[in-house]
Amino acid sequence: MPAEFAGFVETLAWQDWRPRFVTLHNTGVPSLATWLGSSHPARQRIVAQKHYERDILHWHSGVHLFVAQDLIWNLCDLTQVGVSVSCWNHLTLGVEMIGDYATESFDEGPGAQVRDNMVAALAALHRKLELRPDGFKLGVRGLHFHKECRRDHHDCPGRNVVKADVVARVLAQMAA
Ligand SMILES: [Zn+2]
Repeated sequence: MPAEFAGFVETLAWQDWRPRFVTLHNTGVPSLATWLGSSHPARQRIVAQKHYERDILHWHSGVHLFVAQDLIWNLCDLTQVGVSVSCWNHLTLGVEMIGDYATESFDEGPGAQVRDNMVAALAALHRKLELRPDGFKLGVRGLHFHKECRRDHHDCPGRNVVKADVVARVLAQMAA
């Protein structure tokens, strides 16, 4: 899946709009544990119909990518502006991870798989767009977290997602 996604990103061209940085989110609800339950209705629908049921789940509307433990899902055109964060929406690609990382592990088990898929996706995007995840300046450059947009009052992603760790992993993957 990460290799397929990287191949897909290579085919894209940003002409009308060019993002300056990525903003990372987690769903909160559903948690990863809920998502992994086979009876979860939205997961069944996505798997069966390849359809994004944001109305049921109240996920952020209009994120570009959705990342689970077993998939990287392209929801909105990566070459067009999406809707994911009020403060700098027109500058960013929105990437949503399934899980509630205020409480769930991001270091082991399926949470670590979500993390690794996210890192692979971000590395491919940063390489293609010639962006860097480090050198953070709010609203200008570097990887952003949704919670840095204070007016959205949204603790997203949860505290188990540590930006310095994510940035180091993306840089390592970009160099690989
Ligand atoms: Zn968010």
